[in-house]
Amino acid sequence: MRLANKTALITGGNSGIGLATARLFVKEGARVAITGRDRGKLDAALKELGPNAIGVVADSTDVAATEAAVAQAAKAFGKLDIVFANAGIAGNTPLGGSSLETFESVLRTNVTAVFFTVQAALPHLNDGASIILNGSVISVLGNPGYAAYAASKAGVRAMARVMASELSPRRIRVNVVAPGATRTPIWDGAAPTEAAKAALEQRIAKTVPLGRIGDADEVARTVLFLASDDASNIQGAEIFVDGGATASPAGAPVYRG
Ligand code: NDP
Repeated sequence: MRLANKTALITGGNSGIGLATARLFVKEGARVAITGRDRGKLDAALKELGPNAIGVVADSTDVAATEAAVAQAAKAFGKLDIVFANAGIAGNTPLGGSSLETFESVLRTNVTAVFFTVQAALPHLNDGASIILNGSVISVLGNPGYAAYAASKAGVRAMARVMASELSPRRIRVNVVAPGATRTPIWDGAAPTEAAKAALEQRIAKTVPLGRIGDADEVARTVLFLASDDASNIQGAEIFVDGGATASPAGAPVYRG
C-alpha cells in the first residue's frame, strides 16, 4: 500500500475527482478527511469510504470554517501528510454578459480559498508533506466564456510555484494536477440531461488527441502519485491529465484528415 500510515485532507471530497481520490487514498492505506458544503453528499461519501474517513462540512471560502475543518482532521488523525486542495467551481463569465458576483465567486473559490486552505493546514502538516492543488487545462486553452475560471486556474499554477519556494525549507512539496475534461458532476450545469452530456462529451472528445474525455479515477491516480514517495523529488510541477489536449492539440481527431 502506497499510503500506509499516511493522513490526508481532501477539500471537495464528496464528489467527482475529490471523492475518487479519497476512495483511492483509503484503498492505499491512508486515513482521509473530506470536506464539502453539502451534508447529504458528504454522508453518502463517508458511508462508502468506511471507517478510515471522516467528513467535515466546511465552505472553503470561509477561512474560519476551513481552519476548524483542518483542526478537526488533525484532532482525529494527528499531523497531516497530504493536502489535496481540490474544491472548485466552474462558472461562465463571457465578456459582455457577466456579473461581478459570478466572476468574484469563481476567483474566491478557486484561488483565494485554495491559498487559505494551505495556510490553515500548515501548522498541522508534517515536514516532508505533499500538497496537491487542482488546476485545469482551461488555464491555457483560451476556451471562450471562461475568463474567470481560466484566470483562477492559472492563478493556482502561479501560486503553487510560490508555495513550493516558501515550503521547500520544510521539504513540503507543492504540485498541481491539471485535468482535462473529466466526467464528473461539475458538467451537470452545462449538460443537464444524459443526451446533452453525450453530445458534449462527443464534441470535447474531438478536440482531445486520445479521442475521449477522462475519468475521475485517472486524475485520482495522478494525485496518488504526487502524494506518494514515488514523487519524492517532484516540486512545483504541473501534471496535465488531459489526453494530450494541451501538449499536442494538432493530434486531435478534429484535425485528422
Ligand atoms: P464536482 O462538482 O464533482 O466536485 C466539486 C467539489 O468541490 C464538490 O465536492 C463540492 O462539494 C466542492 N466545493 C465546491 N465549492 C466548495 C466550497 N466553497 N467549499 C467546499 N467545497 C466546495 O467537480 P469535479 O470533481 O470535476 O471538480 C473538482 C476540481 O477539479 C475542481 O477544482 C475543478 O475546477 C477541477 N477540474 C475539473 C475538471 C472536469 O472536467 N471535471 C477539469 C479540470 C479541473 P459541495 O458541493 O458539497 O460544496
